[in-house]
Amino acid sequence: MTANSHNYSKILLAWYDQNGRDLPWRNTRDPYKIWLSEIILQQTRVDQGMAYYFAFTDQFKTVKDLANAPQEAVLKTWQGLGYYSRARNLHATAQEIAFNRNGEFPKSAKELKELKGVGPYTSAAIASIAFGEVIPVVDGNVYRWITRLFGIELPIDQKDGQKAVQEIVEAIIPHDRPADFNQAMMDFGATLCSQKKPNCEACPFKQYCIATENQLTDILPIKAKKTKVQTVYLNYFVLEHKKQIIMKQRPDSGIWAGLNDFPLIESDQKIEETQLIDQAEAKFIFSEGKLLSVSPQMKHLLSHRKLLAQFYWIQLHTPPEYLPEDHYWCAIEDLDKKPLPKLIENYWKTR
Ligand code: SF4
Repeated sequence: MTANSHNYSKILLAWYDQNGRDLPWRNTRDPYKIWLSEIILQQTRVDQGMAYYFAFTDQFKTVKDLANAPQEAVLKTWQGLGYYSRARNLHATAQEIAFNRNGEFPKSAKELKELKGVGPYTSAAIASIAFGEVIPVVDGNVYRWITRLFGIELPIDQKDGQKAVQEIVEAIIPHDRPADFNQAMMDFGATLCSQKKPNCEACPFKQYCIATENQLTDILPIKAKKTKVQTVYLNYFVLEHKKQIIMKQRPDSGIWAGLNDFPLIESDQKIEETQLIDQAEAKFIFSEGKLLSVSPQMKHLLSHRKLLAQFYWIQLHTPPEYLPEDHYWCAIEDLDKKPLPKLIENYWKTR
């Protein structure tokens, strides 16, 4: 079976015309809005990303507004989406477009790929949707659909598997509707040919699908490497003195870069409470305090880490003589104005 033998793009577009999702960024060709939606959706589900898309387009109506906003405002609007390097890249790219490119986005995928935070997938999506370039997008949804439909048993996290899928989508993308075709592939993989329960009965490709014919839907697509999940204990200290607490700005790289949390002792095993408080006294240089509360353990999953967090609220009799680097005092009522990781925000709401 060759890629062209059943006119796949026609079938897919007919399905899309009936079943495509009506999403706000599909009613525009404004590259700014399309770029925003693509960055928001990079590691986020559509239903979750929608509110963020509206928040960004309401608050920063043009790329210049976004470029001129303080980074803290951008991070605050992004709060809860995770992967904060995306927000910082978003801001940097807005500045590049607004200040160095006269507010104009480049028009080809090749040039778009040079922008910070814009990889092969995002550049192809923007170029096809905003500028009509005939270039396919390939994301997890597309890998899943194509490997199943064509029965590709090569791992999609390795070059051979990626090349096989890429060649097929390049062969079937239609020249008259590349944007619709790309959005159709995303929708198809996200709804019909989904990870857990593909709806093969309702699928317009069922008579051609090699995975269905050979009962391979559960094992395709194949990945060579399984991600190992590491457990990390986050022991947070809410150190309070006279209605102020000590906060910490996280470094510019790594998880939750640039966001704010509390003094922290990280460990790969659970540490007993008394031992933990001894360690905290030594690390954060306080000698007397009263333990007011210990939160229940809170679980937070990242792509390859399981975080188990507990919060120890200690009222200090005397403040530390000095604070470690990047730590600062914050009035309790001002804490939720800071850009916070979701975990901290959840703790603060339920404390
Ligand atoms: S028949 Fe099932 S597995 Fe094959 S493409 Fe359709 S939904 Fe996916």
